[in-house]
Amino acid sequence: MRELSNSPAQSLIDLVKCSKPDITSVVLVHDLRYVEWVENECSKGFHYIDPDTYVTEHTYNVALAFATTARDAAIDAVRTSTPWFILARPGGHHAGRSGPAMGAPTLGFCIFDYISVAAKTLINQGLRVMIIDFDAHHGNGTQEILWDEPKALHIDIHQRWIYPGTGGLEDVGGLNAKGTKINIPLYPYSNDSHYAYIINNIIETARNVFQPDVILVFAGFDAHKDDKLTQLRVTEDLYSLFGHYLRELLEDKLVRGLISILGGGYGKGMVKSLKSYVEGLTGVSRKPSISETSLQDDILNALRKNLNLLKTTVETS
Ligand SMILES: [Zn+2]
Repeated sequence: MRELSNSPAQSLIDLVKCSKPDITSVVLVHDLRYVEWVENECSKGFHYIDPDTYVTEHTYNVALAFATTARDAAIDAVRTSTPWFILARPGGHHAGRSGPAMGAPTLGFCIFDYISVAAKTLINQGLRVMIIDFDAHHGNGTQEILWDEPKALHIDIHQRWIYPGTGGLEDVGGLNAKGTKINIPLYPYSNDSHYAYIINNIIETARNVFQPDVILVFAGFDAHKDDKLTQLRVTEDLYSLFGHYLRELLEDKLVRGLISILGGGYGKGMVKSLKSYVEGLTGVSRKPSISETSLQDDILNALRKNLNLLKTTVETS
């Protein structure tokens, strides 16, 4: 957070430590056998558990602490309407119920899916959650875990044809949850104007239909134009817009809680983007004006059908 030191946002931020690790948080969404396997692997010290993902002797406790923090933050966010930002790394959205999700080749750096822990905590309290995952990679772990959960609307904006290779337009949710999973697989070189269109038209329409109590954001910044892992062309202005949009929903009491969890971001763009997002969330920057560019026809046609399915599910559940 050093880069925020000259920012007026800093005076609005309370830094708090993670919760103490508690296994009951993580077994809300992961099989106990997988959790025990992670613990056993970590006891062996530093090594790769797959070609992307390494663990150390500390990984199990750290990942468990983040999962427990996600649970506790979810409860506090609703009680106080204070926005939370959990600075976890890695973020967790590729971790499925019992390992790599939806046929992905690896865990993609991730150990436990913190956003699903927060979602399940809130759903168990009878609340409806909307997940916005704007990390450039598809949140296949989150989708797998919440696939048939009608109280979790999961909107995932990502670049198509890159790791983990999931998140197609046809993935709209299980039998009990049709339409509640909205995948937006963007073409390479999509930019701020495409994302502005998505916020103003897709996300806002879905939110209006679904009427969530809480919004959970998987805030990965690897769609930034300077990030070498992807070919998306987002700038820090877009992340500022996201921050302002979410803050306004909370201020206007359209939602009761807002929690962000840090996702990917692997270059200088990460520093600028995180700062812009937090300044938008705290309202210390001016909201940027970004023109909209509509999405390609294949995406738009699928999203229209997806939103109709969501309406039907909301009306009948
Ligand atoms: Zn990513």
